[in-house]
Amino acid sequence: MSSSGIVHLVGAGPGDLGLVTFRAKELVSAADVLVYDYLVHPELVKWCRPECEVFYVGKKAGCHTVPQEEIEALLVSHARAGKKVVRLKGGDPYIFGRGGEEARTLAEAGVPFEVVPGVTAAIAAGAYAGIPLTYRNKSTALVLLTGHEDPKKSGSQVDWRSYGALKNSTLAIYMGMGRLEFILAELQAGGLAADTPAAVVQWASLGRQRSVNGTVADLPERVTEAGLAAPAIIFIGEVVRDHEAIDWFEQLPLFGRRVAITRTRDQNSELRDKLETLGAEVLELPLISISKDVDKYGLVEILAELGTYDWIIFTSANGVRYFFEDFLKGFNDIRSLGLLRFACVGKATAREIEKHHIRVECMPDTATGESLGDALIATGSLDSAKIIVVTGNLNRDKLVKKLEAARAIVDRLQLYKTEKTDLTKDPVADDYRQHGADAILFASSSAAESFYAQGKALWLAPEAKAPLVGSIGEQTSDTLNAQGMAPDFIAAKPSLDALIEAMSERLKQV
Ligand code: SAH
Repeated sequence: MSSSGIVHLVGAGPGDLGLVTFRAKELVSAADVLVYDYLVHPELVKWCRPECEVFYVGKKAGCHTVPQEEIEALLVSHARAGKKVVRLKGGDPYIFGRGGEEARTLAEAGVPFEVVPGVTAAIAAGAYAGIPLTYRNKSTALVLLTGHEDPKKSGSQVDWRSYGALKNSTLAIYMGMGRLEFILAELQAGGLAADTPAAVVQWASLGRQRSVNGTVADLPERVTEAGLAAPAIIFIGEVVRDHEAIDWFEQLPLFGRRVAITRTRDQNSELRDKLETLGAEVLELPLISISKDVDKYGLVEILAELGTYDWIIFTSANGVRYFFEDFLKGFNDIRSLGLLRFACVGKATAREIEKHHIRVECMPDTATGESLGDALIATGSLDSAKIIVVTGNLNRDKLVKKLEAARAIVDRLQLYKTEKTDLTKDPVADDYRQHGADAILFASSSAAESFYAQGKALWLAPEAKAPLVGSIGEQTSDTLNAQGMAPDFIAAKPSLDALIEAMSERLKQV
């Protein structure tokens, strides 16, 4: 057995990406093999390296996609092959996640392992639904229970009646929605008062969180009315009573709103973060994928003459990453860039350049290629200047023409390509097709183009909600109009904050 093989049993937290631990992120980013479950946020899986082998072994209540023994065998065999294996589980690995069984198998097989705790669903649900799980004089104990018991064993293994007799306690029940009435009846038979406050929190910590509260007597009815189902935590105890008074999450301005955004450019995670901070559920449609695709001859020629260029222009952070990868293969000293001046579009692109301790000398306020052209012209440095424009397979014609008209000598350097993603099997696209959204935001003209190009794959089901269309500015609106998707709201100025502001105002009217 190779000595470096190891399995990390890692908790992925309840959903919200901000609740993933640093250690978990670090391990996922370095994994050779990732084995993950249903309820692990799909975004987390994208943190792994392209070479990482990914296995989805998800299960939904009652229907195990991959038998537990097979999952364990998978972990053991990859670790024995010397791989760094990350076994990612929703919440905490040791809370109703069969993490204990996996750890035991690994120990018996002599495979080294590490356990990384995660924020378990009950803790998150309490925090995000305004239910403090312990409270002086009201609740001095928190009991985590499972409502889903081993179907192979007869009778109930949880002695519900004895928990019904507990005083001053909070009960948090996982996987109990399928047997809610039975559980509540048993607790009452054990002495729990029918008017004890009770609540259900579904999809805790995510934009799609929903909750209801009532009493032990009327909870099933309230759950049915609201249409809540798994995954959810059932809370029982006095601490539920003040739920509304201290509920901060469900009070957020965009709570309960579904907002679709298109993943076409680097600033997207920024847009996602901003929307989620305001409580929205974000559907990020992965319309295109960007991969390295280098014009090798062009690259060799340009690198050989690098010292003769005046400016290098980047319009995406990917371009910057790919450029430095290749530049550093050819040169081992950053000073080989000579006096090359850097210009770029977009803050994310600038950040990527600045990582190399290089100052960006020209960046327009508006993140478009054309504005960059204008900003460069305004520097008065273009006459006979030699310029490298780093591009994808979609050429930056307007920008190049503009620079040439200002008498610059422009060489394009293609380093990446942009392709349509297959949306037919994508879970986020499927969610969008089935349920639609309250709004869809276009933060660039190219995003609008990619959306149109993927039109058929994003056709909404008849009962889905047709979203209001939002545009970040003039050029994007022109593109949307040309495609017959007139924007319902437009940002007052071309920034993500202004786009969100325009959406919030417009949504107040519906
Ligand atoms: N190991 C996980 C629990 C796995 S059992 C943890 O520590 O959280 C799966 C059950 O967890 C679900 O049926 C549901 O009861 C609960 N659960 C998981 N994520 C949840 C969420 N975001 N909101 C509410 N309940 C959740």
